[in-house]
Amino acid sequence: MLGGGQATAPCSSAGCTADAAHAVHWRNPRIHSADRVKTWAACEAHRDTLAAWLESRGFPTVVTPFGETVERVA
Ligand SMILES: [Zn+2]
Repeated sequence: MLGGGQATAPCSSAGCTADAAHAVHWRNPRIHSADRVKTWAACEAHRDTLAAWLESRGFPTVVTPFGETVERVA
């Protein structure tokens, strides 16, 4: 039965339907202020590729277990 935890979500990677195991938190410093955090869901296979895509664009990125939130990404 469902408990109090957050339900899972599908991976944010295009075409992927796997359940997310991780959350990728990021921010575009050119358009987002420091306290703005965008979050993508990521499965085991896409955690690294999603984070690498963001980091290659110079976006601050923080990866956590799915369901965790972060106040900001430095
Ligand atoms: Zn995936």
